[in-house]
Amino acid sequence: MSRERVAFLGLGTMGAPMAAHIAKAGYPLIVWNRTPAKARPLITLGAKAAKSPAHAAAEADVVITMVSRPQDVEDVVLGPSGALEGLQAGAVLVDMSTVSPVTSRKLAGAVATKHAEFLDAPVVGSKGPATDGTLVILVGGLPPTLKRCEPILRTMGKTIIHAGNVGCGSALKLATNLMLGHLSAGFVEALILVQAAGLDPQRFLEVVHASPFASPWYQTKGVGMLKGDFTPHFALKHMRKDFELMCGLAKETRAAVPVTEAIRKLFAEAESAGKGELDYSAILAHLQGNAPAVVTPS
Ligand code: NAP
Repeated sequence: MSRERVAFLGLGTMGAPMAAHIAKAGYPLIVWNRTPAKARPLITLGAKAAKSPAHAAAEADVVITMVSRPQDVEDVVLGPSGALEGLQAGAVLVDMSTVSPVTSRKLAGAVATKHAEFLDAPVVGSKGPATDGTLVILVGGLPPTLKRCEPILRTMGKTIIHAGNVGCGSALKLATNLMLGHLSAGFVEALILVQAAGLDPQRFLEVVHASPFASPWYQTKGVGMLKGDFTPHFALKHMRKDFELMCGLAKETRAAVPVTEAIRKLFAEAESAGKGELDYSAILAHLQGNAPAVVTPS
């Protein structure tokens, strides 16, 4: 049986390594990125470059989108020369961006008008797992559609979880990022308290590592934060966007999330203060009043 032809739209921090796994697995791949230069490494791996999302979709059985915000996915899929224009009957559009369930359902409705299928399939894990092919993929949509796309998703992720109907992958992803945002805000505030109390932040990190709530996150992100390294793996502007989306979902579903509201405000303030392009862990620098680093461990 011939392999599915794949189109990958959006080659940013996450999309580029994810698309590379698909190319390396031998799928016929056509790629598109708003900034065309980012497609070059994929072309080196054998992918074709498309002139537009519509052109890419016209040559694919499975079209994957991995862009930033809900409006950006809508631009790429529903806008002029968008993927919908080229989408073939019987094809599948898989949106892997982190968006709201409302956006996922809107995209699914549009895709259905072309007699095609839709999955929302956002991912848990940052640049490292995207590069290693060990993402956790949360899927909303029909089980047969997931079954069809699973071999392609497996090239990018080690765990694939069927969350439910269209929109459920997006909702589950927002709940997961809610926890990540709380984890980072809690760690940052504890670190600031530790410093203010004149304690050694390195010693604090040792205590966290030895605690029953130890997590690999403290090892990777925590150590980077202690060094004042805010190189973006997951940009603060995207975490801010996710907190807007989760608070929107909470409002819609009448879920009480008062602490999440406070953290949403914190990320929004940090972005307004010019930290949007840094890693989301830069809320530390924001709360420290732009001090470059907590401490440099020896
Ligand atoms: P990124 O590095 O900022 O890349 C964003 C991509 O979207 C780029 O290819 C960009 O094109 C494209 N894009 C943005 N707006 C567009 C528009 N209006 N039209 C066309 N293309 C547009 O973001 P990322 O970190 O890869 O994240 C992508 C998605 O995955 C986001 O929804 C994010 O929340 C989610 N996510 C990220 C992580 C992470 O750790 N980074 C983890 C899990 C989920 P250009 O190159 O032209 O700018």
